[in-house]
Amino acid sequence: MPYAYDDQNIFAKILRGEIPSTPVFESEHTVAFPDISPQKKTHILVIPKGPYRCYDHFVQAATAEEQLDFFKSVAKVAEQLGVSESAGGEGFRLITNSGAHSLQEVPHFHVHLLGGEPVGPLTCK
Ligand code: AMP
Repeated sequence: MPYAYDDQNIFAKILRGEIPSTPVFESEHTVAFPDISPQKKTHILVIPKGPYRCYDHFVQAATAEEQLDFFKSVAKVAEQLGVSESAGGEGFRLITNSGAHSLQEVPHFHVHLLGGEPVGPLTCK
């Protein structure tokens, strides 16, 4: 079944400037901004500018250029925030939710970048 993209989702509105956000990073195909409800000291959302619903949609439909830009951008954000080891930090966790079982709330592909303090064990309760 093809992926349906709802362009009324919150991140699409942020990308169009209809809802405010404070980007911490921007490249040609990617934007990063703080999560409105941070779960750790550092909690940044990294999203592609293109209309992709979730990780698997992004990998299937985005161009190679978009995908490379996105994954390099995640690493750049981690470095810029000082959480990556290359920036002298203590590391970070990436999370992406895809679909109903994952409880994905916003149907625009995004990666949560969590760090700045220990993020705890990876648990599924
Ligand atoms: P997910 O459950 O993976 O879809 O996560 C969606 C995330 O978007 C949640 O962590 C929310 O706190 C976050 N969020 C929702 N609205 C906004 C907003 N306007 N600006 C920044 N983050 C948001």
